[in-house]
Amino acid sequence: MIKVLDSFVADKIAAGEVIERPVSAVKELVENSIDAGAASIIVEIRKGGKSYIRVTDDGCGISFDEAETAFLRHATSKISGISDLDNIVSLGFRGEALASISAVSRLTMVTRRPEDMSGVKLVLHGGKAVSKERTGCNSGTTVIVEDLFYNTPARRKFMKTDSREASSIIELIQQYAVCYAGIRFMMINNGMTLFSTNGDGDTHSVIKSLYPALARNGLLSVSNKHVKGYVSDPGTTMSTRKGQLFFVNGRLVSSNVIEKGLEEGYQGRIFSGFPVAVLFIEADPGDIDVNIHPGKQEIRFLRQDEVKKDISEAVSKAVMTGSGVPKGFLKNIESSESPHITQPDDTAFKEQETEQTSIREFLKSLDRAETFEVYEAPAIPEVAESAEPVYEPVPAPAKAYADTVLSPAPFDFADLSFKGYVFNTYIIMQGKDELYIFDQHAAHERIFYEKFMRGYNNSAHSPQPVLTAFTINVSNDVYSMSGEWLGDLIRMGYDIEDFGDCTFIVRGIPPYMSVDEAERFAGAYAEAAGEAGGSNTVVIDKLITKSCKSAVKAHDVLSEHEIIDLMSELAECDNPYSCPHGRPTFIRISSYDIERSFRRK
Ligand code: ADP
Ligand code: MG
Repeated sequence: MIKVLDSFVADKIAAGEVIERPVSAVKELVENSIDAGAASIIVEIRKGGKSYIRVTDDGCGISFDEAETAFLRHATSKISGISDLDNIVSLGFRGEALASISAVSRLTMVTRRPEDMSGVKLVLHGGKAVSKERTGCNSGTTVIVEDLFYNTPARRKFMKTDSREASSIIELIQQYAVCYAGIRFMMINNGMTLFSTNGDGDTHSVIKSLYPALARNGLLSVSNKHVKGYVSDPGTTMSTRKGQLFFVNGRLVSSNVIEKGLEEGYQGRIFSGFPVAVLFIEADPGDIDVNIHPGKQEIRFLRQDEVKKDISEAVSKAVMTGSGVPKGFLKNIESSESPHITQPDDTAFKEQETEQTSIREFLKSLDRAETFEVYEAPAIPEVAESAEPVYEPVPAPAKAYADTVLSPAPFDFADLSFKGYVFNTYIIMQGKDELYIFDQHAAHERIFYEKFMRGYNNSAHSPQPVLTAFTINVSNDVYSMSGEWLGDLIRMGYDIEDFGDCTFIVRGIPPYMSVDEAERFAGAYAEAAGEAGGSNTVVIDKLITKSCKSAVKAHDVLSEHEIIDLMSELAECDNPYSCPHGRPTFIRISSYDIERSFRRK
């Protein structure tokens, strides 16, 4: 029964405006449908939800007599007394959503309970009922919200572009579809069906179909006392937390506790960025407080440590394959007091400035696409110049080396000999008096980045046709905002076209990339544009460096031959010392450091 909460209970509910954007209205409506026990939920929007939102479910419906009550503030069927607040099992409980949405829109509700012969159609404008009539209809509920914020111009101004608003809504429905794999979801945008799920309860296949980018490298399944779900291997990360979906008792939440547990579970094996994780946490309703945030996105755990530990154990079990964590001398040295391991020099940081400038030039050229021909590429320093003594020795750390003189020999790749390859990532090279550990990924990134910038600056950007056209798949939210990244790719030299159904066909690639690189880069660039939230030069700058990262071969096991090739390509880089993000491509351990660790010196 829908009843208005008494003010004593109502006052205990976290206050705040819940409807800020179209996506907040959609969220509330979908949650209502889930609470109504729906097996199928259809979400349709037009113009990013600004002009039209429809949510149709086949749930329990509302009786003729209660239809209007549902729109009163604090009217809910989900809780009644104060004690219910400690034991919330539904998504809604505040009794505010329908009141808030109807107050700022023209709303139509058509609903029928399965047990009733006829249903009811109720229309409200700005929260006031304008008509109510009996009607024949399917059992379940349809809510149509038109002209959101038509009577609150101030709030209308805060909405983003139609495609941005649509993208947020699509993303939200993707998330719910993953969480509730047992419910059929259908998403329709501007008259087009974007996706639907079959409601068969197979979470993994929903993730795979809705988040191709997340599942690309495979996901590991995790399971423990309170948590189940999927995580990526430590090498597959995204630059934002967009790939992390946490559901607590079926509620999509953000939570530091869960993030920490996840992070701890990887035990420092994340190289950069954020792992992908879809985690379902079951907690005793009495052990969580969902009533701390008006939008209900944040929750509080009463047993934080237990939850964190449970998650971190689950993740560790999945990602720590093999026989435990290797404890090499590196670790011992690191934990000793003096800084024995140092990046070869600080050239990286100086170099970054140069890089920024060339990216800026690059972006300027993106901005004036028509004038490509007259664009003068900044001069690229001759590669041979890198033979100059760009390497300055590690400044002697005051304490440890007070009485040691280091010879300031210039760094030369030609002096290195290959000694080994460990953890499918690190290449060990020996120099005259030093051991060098190269990070294969960082090195690849640097090489690709310089190749990209050089190729971009020097070439005419006419696509080079590929023998076999290939397609790239993106997620629905990224697809819906292709206007914000497709043009960039074309200007970079891609012959790429919308192929419908979240797919793009590539018939030509920039002449300065291999097919493999071009394929990875295009996919990564599109997904990164989706994450970045707005296209402007600063964002594009970041995207390029991020996408470079994805364009390199992650986790490929290299042969000795490939390692030698990699080394010579790195040697030819203008700045071989750091990746485009400023992390070192290699580190140095002197023979002195090693001898000292063995207490020989
Ligand atoms: P809350 O979800 O917090 O209870 P709402 O304002 O969202 O508050 O909804 C008020 C009431 O209207 C709900 O408690 C429920 O009884 C009823 N209701 C809303 N949407 C639906 C729906 N799709 N199907 C059945 N009942 C609904
Ligand atoms: Mg609700």
